[in-house]
Amino acid sequence: MHIIGTAGHVDHGKSTLVRALTGIDPDRLKEEKARGMTIDLGFAWIELPDAAGVTHNVGIVDVPGHIDFIKNMLAGVGGVDAALLVIAADEGVMPQTREHLAILDLLAVPAAVVALTKVDLIDDPEWLELVELDVADLLSTTHLRAAPIVPVSAVSAAGLETLKRTLATLLANLPPRRNRARPRLPIDRIFSLSGFGTVVTGTLLDGAFSVGEAVEILPAQRTARIRSLQTHRRHVESSLPGSRLAINLTGVGTDELRRGDVVVRPNTLASTVLVDVSFRLLADAPRPLKHNQPVDLFVGAAEIPAVARLLGAETLAPGQEGWLQLRLSRPAVMVAGDRFILRQPSPSLTLGGGVVLSPQPQRRWRRFDPKSLARLATLAHGLPDEILLQTLERLRLTLRKDLLAAAELDPVAGADALAELRRQQALVEIAAGDEPVMLSLNAWRQLVDGLTTRVTAFHRQFPLRRGLPRSAARSLLQTVLPGVTLSVRLFNTLLEEFARRALLGNDDASVYLLDFAPAPTAAQQQAIDQLLAAFAAAPYAPPIQQDALRILGGDADLLDFLLEQGVLTRLSNDVLLRGEDFAGMVAQIAAYLQEHDRVTLAEVRDLFQTSRKYAQ
Ligand code: GDP
Repeated sequence: MHIIGTAGHVDHGKSTLVRALTGIDPDRLKEEKARGMTIDLGFAWIELPDAAGVTHNVGIVDVPGHIDFIKNMLAGVGGVDAALLVIAADEGVMPQTREHLAILDLLAVPAAVVALTKVDLIDDPEWLELVELDVADLLSTTHLRAAPIVPVSAVSAAGLETLKRTLATLLANLPPRRNRARPRLPIDRIFSLSGFGTVVTGTLLDGAFSVGEAVEILPAQRTARIRSLQTHRRHVESSLPGSRLAINLTGVGTDELRRGDVVVRPNTLASTVLVDVSFRLLADAPRPLKHNQPVDLFVGAAEIPAVARLLGAETLAPGQEGWLQLRLSRPAVMVAGDRFILRQPSPSLTLGGGVVLSPQPQRRWRRFDPKSLARLATLAHGLPDEILLQTLERLRLTLRKDLLAAAELDPVAGADALAELRRQQALVEIAAGDEPVMLSLNAWRQLVDGLTTRVTAFHRQFPLRRGLPRSAARSLLQTVLPGVTLSVRLFNTLLEEFARRALLGNDDASVYLLDFAPAPTAAQQQAIDQLLAAFAAAPYAPPIQQDALRILGGDADLLDFLLEQGVLTRLSNDVLLRGEDFAGMVAQIAAYLQEHDRVTLAEVRDLFQTSRKYAQ
């Protein structure tokens, strides 16, 4: 699923263009919201064909309104696949055009198209050419230098089809979204709707959410549950990474949330107040960046006052890059690789931006310390945790030493990266003997989900059995992980871990849901009652197995169930007794032997007024 974000100088025609492209009027959405028809508002979408010609909904994040435009844009632009930079042809490049493009560049937005709009106002073709040259010039200083420039008019509809085609081609050529099975949604809007309660919206990153799922909201660590999900005004059961998503939450009030909070799966991410980053000061910044300079950090949808500690230089000149450690005034949630922007608080101005290298450094680094600077350089250029994670995603399940070997990292970087991934809880590590077993989150989830689904189905099919036989569980897990050899030992390790995490129980023979207890149906219970009545009528000469089975309607599972539960005890191929009757017999014979030296078969027979067969 793809998302386009709009950018551009105020009044250059962004909203009008989005309306012309999508036919969606945000005001109409507002009205539907008021009537309780939708929780997903303010975001339009457009149908565009992919490389194979199949059409998909592509979300468009347009940030309406003039107040705090940059802040709104920053909240909306995180996580977009492509930018639609709108420039009015009659005015050309303006200060905000420059600032927005710089931000798109710093956030490394993967692709962009420039819509040179309002061409209906231009009579002079030379003017249009000049503006185009100017725009191309501006683009050439950024990573978006190849962005196509498309002249359009929202009024005459000129160029709109070309613009759609250009966007479609651009999106079709993007690499797929990262899915780390560790979903997070930076909240960019919070509101409450009658009939729904608390609703938050944002762009979903790194994984998927499902209806019914328990979630955690960071940094406050509040827990809530997903009551419903909407994307593009449609209810969905689960979402895809990169979706524009509206989440209806239960268990949390709007007053407990703020923009920039992040919705995550419980215990998958932690917040931080210290973060190591690489940073580039914009070439047209008015002055150098100083050590301990106050800044506003924009990351995800959050805006957080911070202090920039300059680790490797006295000052940073405009256009220069350097390592910073940011000290945040309140906790935030981010992961390595996230892009951020720093702005000067007042007068408000974009200073530059960069990449998060370590979201949870162990401590406040000493400035100019060669060791920590070298560590930052490695992180910036190799991002070892990314490498390690990608290797694990490829191998899916492996021993730790094999993972480190396959990632081809030097031992220190490897150990560092592993520690980082542990902190991010980006993998599953199971202690097993002297070499832990490592799993990617995806592989882990597939194993848990696959086995849980199978065990649930088994319980439904065989409500009297304890659970899925272990051998069947092992073959199932093996099919989930083709290419990985699932030895009995490894299989046992996995089952133990499932039990430790209270996901699935197991005993020597079977794997079961923890809240499952074998139980007969009403009809089966009737047969059981009938059988037990027959046993009660002649406790010491009850129906033999064959007859018992007949009373149970030939249901061998039901007989097994009674034996497993201890209701019946099997003494021979033929002879069954009720558990309590057998215990009573043992007790009586024991008492008899208190007073006699021995007991004969005949005496036992007479004692219980039964036949020789039962006595024996
Ligand atoms: P935004 O602030 O960038 O979202 O700009 P708007 O979409 O609100 O448009 C600003 C003004 O430009 C409005 O008065 C629009 O009617 C006008 N406008 C937008 N697109 C066009 C266009 O293609 N041609 C003409 N002539 N006017 C336009």
